[in-house]
Amino acid sequence: MLYQIDLQTSFRNQIIDITNQIEELIPKGFSWICVVYTPHTTCGIAINEGYDPDVWRDLLYWLSKLVPASEEFRHLEWNSDAHIKSSLIWVNQTIIVEDWKLVLWRWQRILFCEFDGPRSRKIYVKFIYWNNN
Ligand code: ZN
Repeated sequence: MLYQIDLQTSFRNQIIDITNQIEELIPKGFSWICVVYTPHTTCGIAINEGYDPDVWRDLLYWLSKLVPASEEFRHLEWNSDAHIKSSLIWVNQTIIVEDWKLVLWRWQRILFCEFDGPRSRKIYVKFIYWNNN
C-alpha cells in the first residue's frame, strides 16, 4: 500500500516534523524498510535533530547563504535557489522499522523541508517487508 500525507506549508523556507505522521502508518509485522518520498522539485526530506528548533533555523539560514536567490539564474520561475536546495537535501529518506518503531536515535526526526512555499505538498510513504532476521 502506498500512503500519502498532505501538507500545507506556511512560509517560503520551512521545516515541518513529520515523524509522528509516518509512525502512525507503520503496518503490523516485524521488519520493514520505510521509504519516505516527496514528488516535488523544490522541497526535500531530511533526518536531523528535532529537539532544538534553532537547528532548523540554522539549517535554513545556512542553505539560504549557500544558495541565495540570484538574478543570474536563467530559470523562468525565479526559484532556482529552491531547486538547488532540493537537490542538496534530496527528496527521499529510507528508515529501518523494527518492532513497530522507526529506528531513529534519541534526537533524530524526519523533517519535511520546504524551500518554495507556501504550497500544498504531498509525501508518499511505502513500507517494504524485510524478513531476514
Ligand atoms: Zn522552478
